[in-house]
Amino acid sequence: MTEQVSVEEFTDQARGFLDAHAELRSTDDHRFVWGEGDDDLSLFEEVDREVEKAQIAAAKQWRATRYDAGFGWITGPVDLGGRGLTKAHERAYSSLESRYLLPRSNFFGIGLGMVAPTILAHAQDHVKSRYLPSMYRGDLIGAQLFSEPGAGSDLASLTTRAERDGDEWVITGQKVWTSGAHYSDIGEVMCRTDQDLPKHRGLTGFIIDMHAPGVEVRPLRQMTGGAAFNEVFFDGLRVPDDHRLGDVNGGWAVALTTLLNERASIGAGPAGGGLGGLGNAARMIEMLRHFDLDHDPLLRQELAAVYTGFQVAKWNGQRAMDKVKAGQAPGPELSGAKLSLTRNLQAVAEFAGHVLGPRMVANSGEWGTYAWGQFVCGVPGMRVAGGTDEVLRKIISEQVLGLPKDPGIDTTSPFRDLPRS
Ligand SMILES: Cc1cc2nc3c(=O)[nH]c(=O)nc-3n(C[C@H](O)[C@H](O)[C@H](O)COP(=O)(O)OP(=O)(O)OC[C@H]3O[C@@H](n4cnc5c(N)ncnc54)[C@H](O)[C@@H]3O)c2cc1C
Repeated sequence: MTEQVSVEEFTDQARGFLDAHAELRSTDDHRFVWGEGDDDLSLFEEVDREVEKAQIAAAKQWRATRYDAGFGWITGPVDLGGRGLTKAHERAYSSLESRYLLPRSNFFGIGLGMVAPTILAHAQDHVKSRYLPSMYRGDLIGAQLFSEPGAGSDLASLTTRAERDGDEWVITGQKVWTSGAHYSDIGEVMCRTDQDLPKHRGLTGFIIDMHAPGVEVRPLRQMTGGAAFNEVFFDGLRVPDDHRLGDVNGGWAVALTTLLNERASIGAGPAGGGLGGLGNAARMIEMLRHFDLDHDPLLRQELAAVYTGFQVAKWNGQRAMDKVKAGQAPGPELSGAKLSLTRNLQAVAEFAGHVLGPRMVANSGEWGTYAWGQFVCGVPGMRVAGGTDEVLRKIISEQVLGLPKDPGIDTTSPFRDLPRS
């Protein structure tokens, strides 16, 4: 039975838990001082795999502590180990938790933000019980295995095959750009199960064990130096039929559940709001001051425009998320939120380039200068991940502006309007 606890009582409980297990950030932690602290601005993982292992161990330990105390899955169903409380309780916890110094939690973003909601919506009951508590406790990390060398924006063109063999399916093919596959324990994989049906109707989703024979993960090095994503090869991977998500050939509906959650997590996630926060505006203001450019009229205007862009995006993102929280289907607002995010990141990169000039590309060891290169080189990846700028503009032009539908390359499919994002 769901407990009756007001948001205020719950917040008191959460504060007690956090005080007992974590250190409160000093209020000075939000103050930006030029030359102090880490000047890392990378948008993707750049750490080496050994450092990453230690970070993951700390992150898992914190999630376990949090889950065991009843704060790991606040809105989850009680029979699956959740607390059965409301989004308001969850927001109260997240807001409180952000005031404490804790291990980074990005490793769980895809698993908890996209894969777990899809399992909850489409898996069999015993599969939900087997995976969801462990995912929310941090024991299992999840990956999204959708994109392929020939299928990204046009996801329904994917060719990785799953063939039925008794009570099992045998999966063969290749995925690419799989973020975090190298540290993931389970994956949501989208496969073609019928070659003869129209492309959106011949897909099926599965939950797979990333450590099983028949799965090979190979790192892909990005231009910023790190290797946050991977290629994943399947060679005869066997998956029990009860690990199927939804109906055979009903994978497109499953994929849409994941993709809508993906758009929501990117548009409203920390990347959407955090960079617009005061800390980052302060970083840019201090950069102008440090290089004695704070009287330059063009740079001042540019900075004001960047700041305004983030503020507007933040409010639009909140509006989109409020609609979702109110139980309405997310609309094109989430595409707008993601597009605003990447436009704003691009504007920040250009501003930093105008201020720093050659300092950004020549490593003189000077704090807060060359480090921007990681950010600038990461922005194009943000413009592609979770729906490219062009595809998002297509959605907005059709669904908001009411312009004629893009004929696309697959004019025969009734589903061609449902784009990858
Ligand atoms: C940082 C990052 C993390 C990622 N993580 C994952 C992950 O964990 N799991 C996963 O499955 N995938 C992941 N991806 C892959 C991502 O989903 C795809 O890169 C994305 O969907 C685009 O597909 P593509 O790369 O094949 O490009 P394509 O779809 O081939 O696009 C190439 C170009 O054509 C344009 N284009 C395509 N269609 C249209 C159209 N209809 N109208 C106008 N222009 C169009 C695109 O905008 C782009 O400029 C990740 C990608 C990045 C960059």
